[in-house]
Amino acid sequence: MRILISGASIAGPVLAYWLHRYGFSVTVVERAPTPRKTGGHAVDLFRPAMDISERMGVLERIEQRVTGTRWLTLCPEGAGRPVRVELSRIFDAASARHAEIMRDDLSEIYVDAARNDVEYLFGDSITAISPEGGVRFEKAAPRRFDLVVGADGVHSNVRRLAFGENAGSSEFIGAYLGVLTLPESVARDGELRIHVGVGRTAGMYGSARLGDARALLLFRSPRELECHHRDIPRQKQLLRTAFDGMDVEVDRWLDELSRTPAFYFDSITQLRMDTWSRGRVTLVGDAGYCPGPAVGGSTTLAVVGAYILAGELARAGGDHERAFPAYERAMADHVRGSRAVAHSAAKTLIPTSRLGVTGLARGAQLISALPAGPRRALLRLTTKSARLYNSMDIPRYAVPGLDAPAGASFGVE
Ligand SMILES: Cc1cc2nc3c(=O)[nH]c(=O)nc-3n(C[C@H](O)[C@H](O)[C@H](O)COP(=O)(O)OP(=O)(O)OC[C@H]3O[C@@H](n4cnc5c(N)ncnc54)[C@H](O)[C@@H]3O)c2cc1C
Repeated sequence: MRILISGASIAGPVLAYWLHRYGFSVTVVERAPTPRKTGGHAVDLFRPAMDISERMGVLERIEQRVTGTRWLTLCPEGAGRPVRVELSRIFDAASARHAEIMRDDLSEIYVDAARNDVEYLFGDSITAISPEGGVRFEKAAPRRFDLVVGADGVHSNVRRLAFGENAGSSEFIGAYLGVLTLPESVARDGELRIHVGVGRTAGMYGSARLGDARALLLFRSPRELECHHRDIPRQKQLLRTAFDGMDVEVDRWLDELSRTPAFYFDSITQLRMDTWSRGRVTLVGDAGYCPGPAVGGSTTLAVVGAYILAGELARAGGDHERAFPAYERAMADHVRGSRAVAHSAAKTLIPTSRLGVTGLARGAQLISALPAGPRRALLRLTTKSARLYNSMDIPRYAVPGLDAPAGASFGVE
């Protein structure tokens, strides 16, 4: 049985690995001309994604390439001195198992996990999918596949081809984000610096290993702004306006907007669809159910979704009419939960009031001062996203060559 996956970032390669393990023949088509090199932004792997990565045999490589960010310095705008917190005190207390890693490092590790067993077509894209599985590409000759999976991100091409231009409904959650690459000289090795004010948050991290630094700029807007997704000068101007006068350090990051080699800008929007599957086509990861970039654990959701989709296809012997609904049922609660925590994460990350700003600074102060026990209790109560993602119960599918009993599940925290 031949399965085509569009997208080779996170969900695509994880799905490809597991489908291959279950005996399917897999092709992955990726628009980028080559596998991604270190870049993008830092992403989080919570416990279920760590467990799945361990089962894939890649956990050690992930642990070797974590970002190494050790300190958080929080500077509340107009509200006193910066607060410095050791990040391990937050993550160790909030999450039993967690790794922060650059998205492109993670992507490379997942691609490598089945690079020799899966066909990768870089620098190409699907242009048409027929109901019988006939697929046309921009460059490659047309081919036939039994199933097609869109793992091609928030602006999914497969979603557009299978469901039409305006599939589902999108909910703007009231904020925008921009990411830019800065010279390494701006970074302080192992330190994440965040300036936070009412309606705007600017963060920056970097390390000697990365060779550069990244600034992440989040700002609130009560309504969607008029800005074409290709109008980069306008996007940069929106960021300059939103962060005007925040701090001299932020001014320095903004100065780099005119020469940054990598720039990303988007609204923080949640896509809602009644179903992610149509005929022989389904969606996985951000393509189907992104809860919003930078405000949730969508990377963990993408890994979990890919693992469950492959497992359900194996369980149904490749019968997509049984497997796709089973996959959607297994993911429904996780997706609903992640949407809800993304809303609350956005509120915490980009405070709507002065009280929110001082609350964030006080919270960080308290966490750095408390001993381990109470700190753990406080964080488990307040960090909704870590709690949600860590508690996701992941089915354990029987894999040829692995001695996992079918029907057991990974533990729940
Ligand atoms: C600025 C920012 C910060 C973020 N921070 C976090 C964070 O802190 N924690 C977290 O967990 N998550 C974070 N995320 C989200 C995280 O990056 C995604 O949830 C995760 O990468 C989803 O993986 P995916 O494989 O579903 O999609 P993506 O990573 O978006 O990958 C989609 C892939 O499809 C390819 N593609 C696109 N179009 C086509 C086409 N036409 N044909 C073929 N291939 C195509 C793309 O090139 C890409 O390789 C952040 C996202 C952004 C943008």
